[in-house]
Amino acid sequence: GANFIGGVEIESLMRNKDGKVAGVKYTTTSDNSNIIRATADLVIIACGANSASPALGIGSEKLPLAKQPGALTYVSSDNYLKQPLKRIFVDTINQTHMLRRSDGTLVIGGGKLIVGGSDSDEDSPEDKELDISEEADSAIAKEMIAAAIKSPDDLESFMESCSENDDKSFRITTANRPISADGLPVVGLVEEGLYVAVTHSGITLAPLIGELASFEIEESLNAKSSEEVERYGFEILDAYRPTRFV
Ligand SMILES: Cc1cc2nc3c(=O)[nH]c(=O)nc-3n(C[C@H](O)[C@H](O)[C@H](O)COP(=O)(O)OP(=O)(O)OC[C@H]3O[C@@H](n4cnc5c(N)ncnc54)[C@H](O)[C@@H]3O)c2cc1C
Repeated sequence: GANFIGGVEIESLMRNKDGKVAGVKYTTTSDNSNIIRATADLVIIACGANSASPALGIGSEKLPLAKQPGALTYVSSDNYLKQPLKRIFVDTINQTHMLRRSDGTLVIGGGKLIVGGSDSDEDSPEDKELDISEEADSAIAKEMIAAAIKSPDDLESFMESCSENDDKSFRITTANRPISADGLPVVGLVEEGLYVAVTHSGITLAPLIGELASFEIEESLNAKSSEEVERYGFEILDAYRPTRFV
């Protein structure tokens, strides 16, 4: 079984006397002065856009990430049913995609939903120089909501209820996409005891990457040599190994 510990920040990796990764040091949000140590056979870095932080042991040389911030709009209303959408909604015509969190909040992303790799639109200079001023935020949010309103009936009524009852029920954030320098997912061992799983297309690829990675990790922990680890690796992931950057 797994023991999930939330509300923590990994401060650094622990290494044994041979330099092999042996666990992590972390603090909790309630007490960030107390460093807690957790030993591990293997550490998996799946920290999105923060995965190349030197504290997490990989660094930007081994894991170069592109700088491509984007906007996400959150819409919430007390008047709407709190049921999650059963699937992620993608509207390719109006170029919007959205999902609903368990508290009922809709998260709307503008532009195409990227599946698997980079997209020429994603490399546009406007994207890299996203204006994050308040006025621009509001304009982007309105544009995203307008695109989402053209969606199926239940979403339309949700949007209408928001604008009629409380026009401040949306907020926008800018966030760095967890996207590698070549736009493709990065999945695999960086070194013995340190595995990485970072991808921009996490929404669409997470179920598959999760399955493949967990199988590989289990096999590699049972392996007796690095040759054995490689033999167990899935060929489908060959093009996405972190070793391509070094
Ligand atoms: C603008 C934008 C556009 C997007 N477009 C698409 C798209 O087109 N297609 C698609 O599939 N997905 C898209 N996404 C979603 C996103 O890119 C990923 O697919 C998804 O969020 C990746 O999931 P993840 O769990 O790997 O990383 P994240 O969701 O980023 O989660 C990483 C987690 O690690 C935690 N963390 C970081 N550092 C530390 C630390 N030191 N200690 C402890 N915890 C830490 C963070 O708090 C966070 O909870 C988009 C996202 C953005 C922001």
